[in-house]
Amino acid sequence: MNAYVERVISEVKEKYKDQKEFVQTVEEVLSSVSPVLDRHPEYETAGILERMVEPERMFSFRVVWTDDAGVPHTNVGYRCQFNGAIGPYKGGLRFQKNVNESIIKFLAFEQTYKNALTGLPIGGGKGGSDFDPAGRSEAEIMRFCQSYMTALYRYIGPDQDVPAGDMGVGGKEIGYLFGQYRRLRGDFKNGVLTGKGLTYGGSLIRPEATGYGAIYYLNEVLHQQGDTIRGKKIAVTGFGNVAWGVMKKASQLGARVTYMSGPNCYVKDPEGIITKEKLDFVLELRRRNETDLKAYADRFGCEYHAGEKFWGVNDVDIYMPCATQNEVGPEEAKKIVESGVRYYIEVSNMPTTNEALSYLRRSGIIIAPSKAVNAGGVGVSSLEMSQNSERLMWTEEEVEERLRSMMVNIYRVSLEAAQKYGLGYDLISGANIAGFEKVAQAMYEQGIF
Ligand code: GLU
Repeated sequence: MNAYVERVISEVKEKYKDQKEFVQTVEEVLSSVSPVLDRHPEYETAGILERMVEPERMFSFRVVWTDDAGVPHTNVGYRCQFNGAIGPYKGGLRFQKNVNESIIKFLAFEQTYKNALTGLPIGGGKGGSDFDPAGRSEAEIMRFCQSYMTALYRYIGPDQDVPAGDMGVGGKEIGYLFGQYRRLRGDFKNGVLTGKGLTYGGSLIRPEATGYGAIYYLNEVLHQQGDTIRGKKIAVTGFGNVAWGVMKKASQLGARVTYMSGPNCYVKDPEGIITKEKLDFVLELRRRNETDLKAYADRFGCEYHAGEKFWGVNDVDIYMPCATQNEVGPEEAKKIVESGVRYYIEVSNMPTTNEALSYLRRSGIIIAPSKAVNAGGVGVSSLEMSQNSERLMWTEEEVEERLRSMMVNIYRVSLEAAQKYGLGYDLISGANIAGFEKVAQAMYEQGIF
């Protein structure tokens, strides 16, 4: 490995040893881009890597809200504005009990390279809170969002930092956040958030974009292998917005999702989650903040497995983890390889631990990295920003065609980056390198700060 890369990784490991997820992503990305540093000694002279692993700005804030019984609660809010070299900071907000500084920082770091990969002018950011929306009433969620935005609104804006949704933050929360932003600012700047409702500047296809984009990317991978998506069976983890988009587009292209999972269960539906009724039911479960899939299994008469994961099943062609970070560790990776399934397409952010990832890479299974696969979500967010600044709205067909060609392009530039450095068919390194090269060069040209 390049000595400069090695040194910066070990500095980060030492300095941020308590930030497990952040250290993990830095190690993964930087080791992939090692050949770039061999070719660009000027990046070391300019201290590019040391700057890249330190957010431009990161802050936390107190978010106080009262529950329906009038009891006050205090949560912590975060926003990490990691890198603004190629555009305004852009990235979602995650509301989940386990959110901490390390998780927000890892997501913002990943976001920087993913956003660069879209080919659009967006920097990297992420935010969130340890607020747990599960079991909270509509009014409580609204008050929480209003309080969150009251703390954040001075530091975001259409040309500054543009938050969006992530886990625990969907269209409903974005609505409350935007309402409060508008109320505090006193002007209509809807380019400040993406993932908005269609009546106030949202983009068609944004809710579907991450999942649709993932399937378009998968389509390219299959195509390269001389294979086709038609008739393919897919196992997805999760049943949130992203998994739903995957199910929907897969079914439109003649494939089907036959397994989905929750945090503590999975269902097997051999006919596939393909009908409108089933897809709507999945959405409804998510809307109710449900974590269990028993209701789905009962309603559609399929196998339900409590307290189990499906890794290792071999009656599918493709695995697509869509739930959360680090869902696949060494044990799961071993089961995946033993199953003989040929394709492992990451969708959620950093679903695979570094140890599991190296094991999978050695096994010869075809792997696509989430940084590329899920980039259609934020890509369409950027299209939403364009529509807002032009004060118009593109048709569904227009947005979807842009999304499709964006995904084809992401696949192509990743492949080209890997080939340029003699790495062969390595979509992981390719995606890291393509995103990295753009950000590094922009920082280099903008001088030292
Ligand atoms: N949270 C999503 C992601 O991980 C979307 C971010 C956005 O649309 O800004 O990319």
